[in-house]
Amino acid sequence: MTDRYASFVQSAAGRALVKRLGLPDPPRLRRHHPGDPLLADPALLGAATGGRLAAQVTKILTAAGVELADPAAAAGWAGGAPAQDAPPARSHGDAPQRYGALLFDATGITDSTELRQLYDFFHPQARAVLPSGRVIVLGTPPQECPTPREATAQRALEGLVRSIGKEFGRGTTAQLVYVSSTASDDPTQSAGTITSLESTLRFLLSGRSAYVSGQVIRVGGGAASVPADWDRPLDGQVVLVTGAARGIGAALAKVLARDGAQVVALDVPAAGDALAAVANDIGGTAVQLDLTAPDAPTRLAEHLASRHGRVDVVVHNAGITRDKTLGRMDADRWDQVIDVNLSSQERINDVLLERELITAGGRIISVSSIAGIAGNRGQTNYATSKAGVIGLVDSLAPALRERGISVNAVAPGFIETRLTARIPLVVREAGRRMNSLAQGGLPVDVAETIGWLAWPASGAVSGNVVRVCGQSLLGA
Ligand code: NAD
Repeated sequence: MTDRYASFVQSAAGRALVKRLGLPDPPRLRRHHPGDPLLADPALLGAATGGRLAAQVTKILTAAGVELADPAAAAGWAGGAPAQDAPPARSHGDAPQRYGALLFDATGITDSTELRQLYDFFHPQARAVLPSGRVIVLGTPPQECPTPREATAQRALEGLVRSIGKEFGRGTTAQLVYVSSTASDDPTQSAGTITSLESTLRFLLSGRSAYVSGQVIRVGGGAASVPADWDRPLDGQVVLVTGAARGIGAALAKVLARDGAQVVALDVPAAGDALAAVANDIGGTAVQLDLTAPDAPTRLAEHLASRHGRVDVVVHNAGITRDKTLGRMDADRWDQVIDVNLSSQERINDVLLERELITAGGRIISVSSIAGIAGNRGQTNYATSKAGVIGLVDSLAPALRERGISVNAVAPGFIETRLTARIPLVVREAGRRMNSLAQGGLPVDVAETIGWLAWPASGAVSGNVVRVCGQSLLGA
């Protein structure tokens, strides 16, 4: 579905009208294309005194070909003598220096009085970020902090980041990444190695994260492995995508195949033609199966075992809505939604894990929804199922850590699909604009986020629920 208003405001007449009437001004978002540089413009790095991630971040960005804006500050980082105050935006001739990204290592902040260092870094740069820029703050998970004062100061970072996401505009996104002290820094110490943080920084800086903003992402201590080619981060991985015949699932199959995965695309038999078209298009295989059938988990397990001998990544994307206010909802609507959106995921996980078809280093990724976070009128069944998906992540991630399997969810907001095209015009328009980016996301935005969670390089990212909602006001 197209957003005609967003196209209109890109025109000369549209721009004039938007300015005159103060209408919402959805920016054109930078999205990923294979071969794109991670960031076309320089990044400016800063760090609070005593930050522990300086050298690691410098190394990651340098290896990724990102130009560091201030060599002196960058040298300070790499040398373990982090800059306290970043330099103010400088001029090259008449043009002020502009940045594609601002990154700040806040792990050195141990007391609320030291939060001033954030102001000192960001204040001079508030207007220096280019369209579709990136702001990333790195912190320590508050629960790991040795003192209440440090935990308080680290928790405060969320407010800064979420406000920057709402304030900077023009497609700029802002995220907080809490990096556990157990996250590894160069585990093998040899050339070409990876750090736990690398995949997350690469995702957040790139156009893959176009519609992700205002998020708090936790990077822990799981194992991560380096891809031979960062443009094919899923090379050789066997990935199951449920609900792949259309919408987000079809976009997902495409993105995962583009990134090197062998995709097993699953959908109901009634969607067989569309499913076959998706699978053929990407050189994947199609499985026609109703996930709620009593024998679905065993049939699926047998298919995966006989065709591939394993599955590296399971993406539970299939989902349905059967909306009615609770008083008018018949039991069938309730049962179907809970069964498709939640219980079938649990049954499939159980069988695939029991038969050890999800291998060590494997991934389980579920699609939740902001309705599962904020609730929604007329969607008690759907919101219950989607909140349950978050519960599944919370409970399964710690349980599977030992086996090296990560479990995460994405929670899409307003995504332009057939599902949202059915919403009445006025409600649809409100849903589209009520976020920091003033537009709906595209299926590819959800797909890129799931792709990042699926990468072997993302093994240290587990137990997260990442919203793909343009920083929606709902449930924020
Ligand atoms: P969609 O209706 O276009 O696609 C869902 C697919 O799941 C369909 O192809 C359908 O046939 C399949 N499916 C349904 N029941 C199944 C079953 N029993 N067995 C196998 N396949 C089954 O929906 P979409 O918009 O692409 O949504 C995909 C996921 O994203 C869903 O989980 C949805 O709840 C979630 N989501 C979507 C949005 C949005 O704005 N579109 C927002 C939040 C969450």
